[in-house]
Amino acid sequence: MSPAVHPASPRTVRVQAPGKINVSLRVGPPRDDGYHSVASIYLAVSLYEEVAATSVPGGGITVSMKPADPQHFGSGPTGGQEQEANVPLDAGNLAVRAAAALQDAAQVGDGAHLELVKRVPVAGGMGGGSADAAAALVACNALWDCGLEAESLSRIAAGIGADVPFALLGGAAVGLGIGERLTPAPATGLFHWVLVPTPAGLSTPRVYAELDRIRAEAGADVVEPAADANVLRALESGDPATLAEVLNNDLEPAALALAPPLAGILAQGRRHGALAALVSGSGPTVAFLGSGAEDAVRLAHSLTRNGLEAFAVHGPAGGASILPGA
Ligand code: ATP
Repeated sequence: MSPAVHPASPRTVRVQAPGKINVSLRVGPPRDDGYHSVASIYLAVSLYEEVAATSVPGGGITVSMKPADPQHFGSGPTGGQEQEANVPLDAGNLAVRAAAALQDAAQVGDGAHLELVKRVPVAGGMGGGSADAAAALVACNALWDCGLEAESLSRIAAGIGADVPFALLGGAAVGLGIGERLTPAPATGLFHWVLVPTPAGLSTPRVYAELDRIRAEAGADVVEPAADANVLRALESGDPATLAEVLNNDLEPAALALAPPLAGILAQGRRHGALAALVSGSGPTVAFLGSGAEDAVRLAHSLTRNGLEAFAVHGPAGGASILPGA
């Protein structure tokens, strides 16, 4: 008797990729292509997006979303349906675009279904969509046995969005150009943060446009940005009090102009003992720096008791990586 032939069961690869805080974001003048040159210092934090990629022989790329576990963002007042409604579940999804770009680059015949677990606040200034794209690249690279090295994946990532290469790399890094030209930055130990998301997201292009408007009104002389050496030294020192002194974000005044209630949230965190408070990237997520792990948990609890959604994380966290199990 000949052995039974079983059709190959679909394979699944699960990958996580981190959200980020910009511990420094220096923004230059707008470029001819509409983007701004930046000198960003990224810090990956322990709030992860997850992508499970399942092979679809001969098929295209599809995407769905699975609710996040209750202890993470995505299920509180800022989460659930309101967040999900803002994530396209078609070819416009950044994870789908990333998988399709890899399929093209590596001339892959098979397709994939991508299931996303979103924990990073949508349009929150923490690069959640970029993390999905990075996770999809790593997952599909393994799923389809493409064998692309980090450098090739990073090149494809940069074609998807400025923050995608950093979500692949993780850790701490300087990002020049529009943020995609990365140099790892040494950091000592872990920095502990409390994140406060806001239900209504802010559109990144709108925040940059508002910064241009504020600068034009003030007649500001805008120069090409360079990485902030004080922030790099503070990361290397491992001392949160030193980092608290030098954190900066050129986009913060623009985010505050578009979302005035953020000023009250920043003040609330400072009152409750945060070493420093800043808007993350283009906002509206706010990040508070704590003096240590226990301090951050205590701060998160007191902000929660005062009616805010607040969540302790730490960084640097690792870049996109394959999770065990199928
Ligand atoms: P940035 O990297 O510009 O700081 P952000 O963190 O503020 O981005 P994201 O959550 O990454 O914001 O997404 C911004 C927009 O991109 C969303 O409003 C949504 O319409 C679109 N988008 C496309 N794909 C995704 C995805 N997988 N997850 C979230 N948003 C996505």
